[in-house]
Amino acid sequence: MQNNKVILPMKTIGIIGGGQLGRMMAIAAKYMGYQIAVLDPTPNCPAAQVADQQITAAYDDMDGIQKLTDISDVITYEFENVDLDAAAYIEQKDKLPQGAYALEITQNREKEKSVMGDAGLPVPANKIVRDSDMCASALENMPLPAVIKTVSGGYDGKGQLKINTTDDMKAACEFADQHDVSIIEQWVPFDREISVVFTRGQSGEITFFPISANEHKDHILYKTTVPASISAAVQQKALDAAGILAEKMNIAGTFAIEMFVKGDDIYLNEMAPRPHNSGHYTIEACNLSQFEQHIRAICGLPLMPIELLRPAVTVNILGDDAGTALNMLPEMQHGFLHLYGKEAVKPKRKMGHITFIADTLDEAKKQLAVYEEAKQ
Ligand code: AMP
Repeated sequence: MQNNKVILPMKTIGIIGGGQLGRMMAIAAKYMGYQIAVLDPTPNCPAAQVADQQITAAYDDMDGIQKLTDISDVITYEFENVDLDAAAYIEQKDKLPQGAYALEITQNREKEKSVMGDAGLPVPANKIVRDSDMCASALENMPLPAVIKTVSGGYDGKGQLKINTTDDMKAACEFADQHDVSIIEQWVPFDREISVVFTRGQSGEITFFPISANEHKDHILYKTTVPASISAAVQQKALDAAGILAEKMNIAGTFAIEMFVKGDDIYLNEMAPRPHNSGHYTIEACNLSQFEQHIRAICGLPLMPIELLRPAVTVNILGDDAGTALNMLPEMQHGFLHLYGKEAVKPKRKMGHITFIADTLDEAKKQLAVYEEAKQ
């Protein structure tokens, strides 16, 4: 960590995880002339389709990890659930500028909340519970609605249950018994959700992408709008919080922090130590994408100053919506379509996204409305 070793194009970047984030990292790196090796258990996974080579192995397969480390000059990861022994091994070989610490913290909501709390940053009121008794007593002291989440392993709404009324308490307590450790959080009646996506270089310099407003459906990101309509006070609080956490986490690379906004207050929700779904708009709407800046950071290149070129709206293509997007394409004048090359279509699976950019946000939203109407 913080070795500031420069890895120049033609060298090999190893990516752990071959999903869409790995694919978009690989595409950005290929533009610059890097070689890409990806480790993923699924043959021909989205990132492997654009990489030079794939090591087909489980994420915690130490033989595979060793092989990836041997053939790569630097290694990055596209998700936070990287095996911690694997990360420690690569870090010890001085090839993991993002670091293993950020993984340890973001893999576990309990640790994540305590890092945020220790830094004096606002988080929703919460309580750690290990079984139904603890759950019942936590709920006695927490006004509803609330939400119970597994502390590890959940993503895209998996591993969480909203507790709207006392009728949901029984299910919440069963949930607590079914999982080793859970966290119960106060539900924040937010005005909007935002995320701060930024990149930190290996010497500690930071560039921020414009803050986006995010809409979720069923706990999965559906839509991202940039610029977010937030007050100057919220913007400052959000950037300050991100700066504090970036330093605390001592990370390098692109990083995202999701927050709830209520009035002029922010509440931190989650961190992701990697490029983020809410930063996909940067590919077309900024002078440099979150993926390119990430590659620059992990390769020890100077970060480029970031500008928003045009307002943007990005919509995720989930499950069967991929068919709608394809059907519309011959008539769709606007919108940058990205499909991730996933063979199996599953309900709610992130199959791709479309970014609409225009001179005004209203115009970009009108372009999106055409797609949304066709989807009905
Ligand atoms: P998470 O997996 O924690 O990011 O949760 C996914 C989504 O569920 C968030 O982006 C919110 O839309 C919603 N959510 C989760 N926790 C809360 C909370 N404490 N208050 C309000 N909304 C929440």
